[in-house]
Amino acid sequence: MQNHTHNVLLYYLYTPIEDPEVFAVEHLAACKELELKGRILVSEEGINGTCSGTIEQTQAYMDMMKSDLRFSDIVFKIDEANGHAFKKMHVRAKKEIVHLGLEDDINPNELTGTYLEPAEFYKQMQEQDTIVLDARNDYEYDLGHFRNAVRPDIENFRDLPEWIRDNKEQFEGKKILTYCTGGIRCEKFSGWLKKEGFEDVSQLHGGIVSYGKDPEVKGELWDGQLYVFDERIAVPINQVEQVIVGKDHFTGEPCERYVNCANPECNAKILTSEENEHKYMRSCTDECREHPRNRYAFEHGLTGEQVQARLNALKETTRV
Ligand SMILES: [Zn+2]
Repeated sequence: MQNHTHNVLLYYLYTPIEDPEVFAVEHLAACKELELKGRILVSEEGINGTCSGTIEQTQAYMDMMKSDLRFSDIVFKIDEANGHAFKKMHVRAKKEIVHLGLEDDINPNELTGTYLEPAEFYKQMQEQDTIVLDARNDYEYDLGHFRNAVRPDIENFRDLPEWIRDNKEQFEGKKILTYCTGGIRCEKFSGWLKKEGFEDVSQLHGGIVSYGKDPEVKGELWDGQLYVFDERIAVPINQVEQVIVGKDHFTGEPCERYVNCANPECNAKILTSEENEHKYMRSCTDECREHPRNRYAFEHGLTGEQVQARLNALKETTRV
């Protein structure tokens, strides 16, 4: 990006933080002082953050963190931008900095998979008897993923351990490579895989974000876009070849545009074009379209009768 004004930072570190509640209050004040916006989670096990600001503001933040002995090992992934990627600044104290929901928690400083730098990951993922396992949620995979990576059929990261146990056979005797957005989820997940008895487990160091910036691999063998948890939603990774893997929820056409289902109780992320968003009332199913608190109907001032008329018209033309 030429002449960019802002940066978006992504970072984490597993490091002991005493009294995360107090830390969160002080850290929020420091971030607000720097006029940053973003979302930072802290716990006794470490820090996990993403935030945006001008080049100067984000530099000041990185300098501040680097000068704190607890955080001097943080690796910041920096995306160039032309504006903030968040609306507000939040710093929250939590039990875990990433929710894996394991019965026995994993300390990645004690047990984790082998770290692979992008060039090594690129090489190994093309080898025989290797399984590339996506450690993210289904909607993240659906927008983009490594070519031939396994897509766990789960909506939430916390369901991943159970899914692995149910599908154990396909991983036995194989070399397992895991990856996620910035690397934080794989730190624990790869450790958990080892604890489960899988012997050969590696993880993409620095995650997909670092892989896309690596001057050697240039994001190769990544198809689609990367789902990110800020207002950008989708960012490019593969600098060599662009493939669209996202499919419109309603028509199956190539699509990389996410909206949330207008049924507030569903709120599912659906890939769809602007045209189909209107046609299908931004709702994933008829049930969601008919929901009494449907936000699309509310935003467009549709009466119950009008909604029914739209539903009937849809039923005549499609079977979604
Ligand atoms: Zn829905």
